[in-house]
Amino acid sequence: MDNSQIADRLDAFASLLELADANPYTIRAYRRAAETIRDAQFPVADLVRSDRARELRGIGPGIEARLAELVETGAIAELAELERELAPDLVGLGRYLGLGAKRSLELARALNVHTADELRQAAAAGRLRTAPGIGPKTEARLLDALGREGEPRPRRGLLLNRARDLVGGVAAALGGQIAGDVRRWRDSCEVLSVVCPARDPASVLERFIALPQIVALADREEWRAVGVSVEGVPLEVVVTDPASFGTALVRATGSEAYVAALEPIPQGPDEESVFRTLGVPWCPPELREEPFRGDPPALVALEDIRGDLHCHTTWSDGRASIEGMGRAAQGRGYEYLAICDHTPAVGAVRGLAPDDVRRQGEEIAAANELLAPFRVLRGTECDILPDGRLDLPDDVLAELEWVQASVHGGQRMPRREMTKRVEEALRNPYVRCLSHPKGRYVNRRPENALDLERVFEVALEQGVALEVNGLPDRLDLRGEHVRDALRAGAKVVCSTDAHSVRGLGNILFSVATARRGGATSADVTNTRPLPAILDRRPEPG
Ligand SMILES: [Zn+2]
Ligand SMILES: [Zn+2]
Repeated sequence: MDNSQIADRLDAFASLLELADANPYTIRAYRRAAETIRDAQFPVADLVRSDRARELRGIGPGIEARLAELVETGAIAELAELERELAPDLVGLGRYLGLGAKRSLELARALNVHTADELRQAAAAGRLRTAPGIGPKTEARLLDALGREGEPRPRRGLLLNRARDLVGGVAAALGGQIAGDVRRWRDSCEVLSVVCPARDPASVLERFIALPQIVALADREEWRAVGVSVEGVPLEVVVTDPASFGTALVRATGSEAYVAALEPIPQGPDEESVFRTLGVPWCPPELREEPFRGDPPALVALEDIRGDLHCHTTWSDGRASIEGMGRAAQGRGYEYLAICDHTPAVGAVRGLAPDDVRRQGEEIAAANELLAPFRVLRGTECDILPDGRLDLPDDVLAELEWVQASVHGGQRMPRREMTKRVEEALRNPYVRCLSHPKGRYVNRRPENALDLERVFEVALEQGVALEVNGLPDRLDLRGEHVRDALRAGAKVVCSTDAHSVRGLGNILFSVATARRGGATSADVTNTRPLPAILDRRPEPG
């Protein structure tokens, strides 16, 4: 069993625990363990066999026992049992209807149904109200939701990375193309869609329904079907004759408003031919949000990025060493990587005090000897204190090559205070970039009250860039805000805020988000070579 197989089983276990409404800490522990194992540079199975699994970060006795069972027997008995007990398709349908896992299973038991289909039949036969706790009102609500099941729209979007895994997996399995919100790289994906060119829709749709990612079927017509994922999210597959694949892809990719403004859309085997017939330049999917028929800007591309300017190491809450992160960045073809570990005020995790920052500098110098001409930059993710001062003294900041300033605690400040706090930090001469400016977590924490217009003005005046943070649950600035920043004349940085080697891969999400804001290569600071990155730093002292 290789590392990725072991990690997949732990992820599956976490999904089932999630389905069972288990303790969120346990679920997160399994997901983290899966990530650690996926990142490990050696065969984890060997470590498990020699009873040393707990040397891995984040693996306690519970997970260790599961790992031992998995490596020894090739399976986790409890996982199989959970799968039987939870009837993922039933729970998936329940989730879609807004019921928790427990409630769905109670309802199924009361109605003596075992599958999603039997539940639909029971509902259609008017049996829902015979279950305890279901009054006429709830019944009406559930029937209404069931009636809208064919519409591919969940109540809450999936994070972009989860949505990409799900939709990408389905597209690859069916030989189709990712469309919908995922192809536009939306931060929260609600319309999940795959378009498949084929002459025989029945066989494609049969394969779709049989995929392990799909736990229930919500709707089925001759040329399309809507399946429900284990998270209760509907995913639509459209099969189309190859001669009109381009037409179907354009329709399934753009927002409703964008598509409506293009209609009538001519027949074509690919997008290029469709756009050509329309007499409209081909439009990158990231810009198909609002009606648009013009010449799109030359958007920044992944290949333009020359380095990552925000990542963490084991010095704070990262999982890899300085050298490990540096080598990985070099392996991606970068010229530089800024190490930006936390400072003490961050609180929840270890932060570096001035002495630590200096000791870390020695380790960075040593890594640079090994990695030259690649360059690891001495950086920091320095907390902005509530009064706008920075968490490291100026003489320490002056030694550094890249300073990110971040608000972590006190996100709920009123607008005036928050804006003053950030403005003050931007005026510090050593600050080069404002991290995750709006402090939101997608679907979890609302944006802070920061007055961005004002911040963009000060950033422009001080030569400070705004980060487009690539963590899938941040994506901050988001596309609309990138557009506003660029309009104000400010620059952005595409960063990952990686906490592991694999995290550097999130640059995809950062670049896509900058593209959604219309950013070109010239708008993005880290498309520039190293001397330009070092250049604008004021002289120490
Ligand atoms: Zn941060
Ligand atoms: Zn960070």
